[in-house]
Amino acid sequence: MSRASRTVSCPRCGAPVPWGPESRFRPFCSERCKMIDLGAWASEEYRVAVKGEDEETDSDSAESKPAAP
Ligand SMILES: [Zn+2]
Repeated sequence: MSRASRTVSCPRCGAPVPWGPESRFRPFCSERCKMIDLGAWASEEYRVAVKGEDEETDSDSAESKPAAP
């Protein structure tokens, strides 16, 4: 039986991460990388959603409003 230590690459910074119980944040190398990755994903989704909604509402109320005196 071979117990070669397996390592994975941190998806955030590419650092080698030992694949085992000692790596609490695997596949990330650290809690920081994990939070950065999750934070970036969440903020990006939030920003896209907000921007899309805002843009649609803005252009809708500005252009499709007939000038009725
Ligand atoms: Zn990392």
